[in-house]
Amino acid sequence: MVPTLNDDEEELRALSRWVVQELGPDVPLHFSRFHPLYKLTNLPSTPVESLERARNAAMEVGVKYAYIGNVPGHPGDHTYCPHCGEILIARAGFAVREYHIVDGKCEFCGAPIAGVWR
Ligand SMILES: [Zn+2]
Repeated sequence: MVPTLNDDEEELRALSRWVVQELGPDVPLHFSRFHPLYKLTNLPSTPVESLERARNAAMEVGVKYAYIGNVPGHPGDHTYCPHCGEILIARAGFAVREYHIVDGKCEFCGAPIAGVWR
């Protein structure tokens, strides 16, 4: 998400609705933080609050797996069970720190988790 270019909350809500309706609620949606670099240096870094609003809006309209990216240590980087809310996959950067999916199901409540799992 780049400030002023694609961070309008209603547009992001519409995008999320489109994902749910056209692709399905199990399709993950990532909102990644922009930082001014290379040829686009006249805009500030994306405020974390904007990313959080986008993630919340996505989940409000039915996206089950919405993420915040490029914000090290943010809880929006983890995968949560859409049924019980427990953390299924805890990440630190690209590393997996916790993994709680067993036979394609939440280890805590048994709800099926969409995806192909090891
Ligand atoms: Zn669960």
